[in-house]
Amino acid sequence: MTIAMGDPGAGLERLDPRFDGLVLFNAGLERLADGFRWLEGPVWFGDHQCLLFNDIPSNRTLRWSERHGVTPFLDPSGFANGQTRDRQGRLIQCQHQSRSLSRREHDGRTTVLASDARGHRLNAPNDVVVKRDGSIWFSDPLYGLLNDYEGGRQQSEQPPALYRLEPDGGTPEAVATDFDGPNGLAFSPDEQWLYVAESGAPGVAAPRQHIRRFRVNDDGRGLSGGDIFHTIHPGWADGFRVDEHGNLWCGAADGVHVIGPDGVLLGKVLVPQRVSNLCFGDRHHSRLFLCAATTLYALFTNTRGAAGP
Ligand code: MG
Repeated sequence: MTIAMGDPGAGLERLDPRFDGLVLFNAGLERLADGFRWLEGPVWFGDHQCLLFNDIPSNRTLRWSERHGVTPFLDPSGFANGQTRDRQGRLIQCQHQSRSLSRREHDGRTTVLASDARGHRLNAPNDVVVKRDGSIWFSDPLYGLLNDYEGGRQQSEQPPALYRLEPDGGTPEAVATDFDGPNGLAFSPDEQWLYVAESGAPGVAAPRQHIRRFRVNDDGRGLSGGDIFHTIHPGWADGFRVDEHGNLWCGAADGVHVIGPDGVLLGKVLVPQRVSNLCFGDRHHSRLFLCAATTLYALFTNTRGAAGP
């Protein structure tokens, strides 16, 4: 069953009864701002009631608030992609141009947290999440090195990998290396599982494109497993977040796919443009902010994001 939401191409597609409890029949998809090039990296700052997000090709980090709309935040942004906040509330950014992970201090200075691993420069950090113990986990695929549009073509020095970094940076430790293109990532609410989107190697006939699920080891540092958890159709998954019930809200070609903790596709929020990444925010952490190609959308839901940005 699909419920239209006003905008052409917007709607709710229910595939499992559990979807009904997660969405609101009378909440429409709101178009907050448009005219961008390729949006990414949404992160909510509850203390400022604002969203930070990136327009990667424009080399800018932008700020949206209900009151002021979109205003510049960082220009240039280092072609920043995925973003999150650490346990002290500081902004953590994946930056394509410098091939690094950086932290913006409370006074506005920038600290590079990681730029090398395994004796070589990182590729182009893509997405990042912070665990409750303060450790920083990020994906490092090749995508950001492959064209001039998202930061400038550069030579890769090592294969893609998934890394764990100490809260104050240093040398990241590779926690999974059997990836063609690690992308979005998020922990389950109890942090016993780490989900990672694998969006495949570019130009390959049958790319590996699915969401994998890793068990977090008891020491909280390493991973085991990594089996396929869910395969997205159509296309591939990019960024995603987990709600308070452990459901995955996943950016995809036709909108947002909501996947239960058992791997079942519960339903879709149909969006007129590809959703690259999303986050929960607003006062109750129940409003979904969607970075969708050239447009920033929002949708009030009937669930809340799991703790954290
Ligand atoms: Mg991504």
